[in-house]
Amino acid sequence: MKQAYQKPIPVMQPWTKEFWKATKDHILLIQTCKECKSKIFYPRKFCPECWSGNLDWIEAGGKGKVFAFTITRDMVEPKFMTDLPYVLAMVTLEEGIRMMTRIVECDPEKVEMGMDVEVVFEDISEECSLPMFRPIKK
Ligand SMILES: [Zn+2]
Repeated sequence: MKQAYQKPIPVMQPWTKEFWKATKDHILLIQTCKECKSKIFYPRKFCPECWSGNLDWIEAGGKGKVFAFTITRDMVEPKFMTDLPYVLAMVTLEEGIRMMTRIVECDPEKVEMGMDVEVVFEDISEECSLPMFRPIKK
């Protein structure tokens, strides 16, 4: 039997449930505002631009570019030690929003700013999968 996931699992909130539910199907959703058309990340109760509660979802294409990153080599919570070294990154999606994520399936030393990446999902529980990004093979 596969060992249960040891690392922290996202806490579902009524306003994030839709986002996490979609990750189970390996779909990345972006919250949008029906009033001012803003794209919103992370999911919220109200639009951060116009404070409307009239929000919706669109499906992201799943492609983006590395905006910034750091290679984590040591000094992390013990549950993450087996992952070292790993790349923590900000990725700007084609839709314009920016996500904090990890770059996977790649030698950490090969990660570059501006690198083209695509979303992949790590299945961690019955409720959700974690969106991460890997380089797009050329
Ligand atoms: Zn708005």
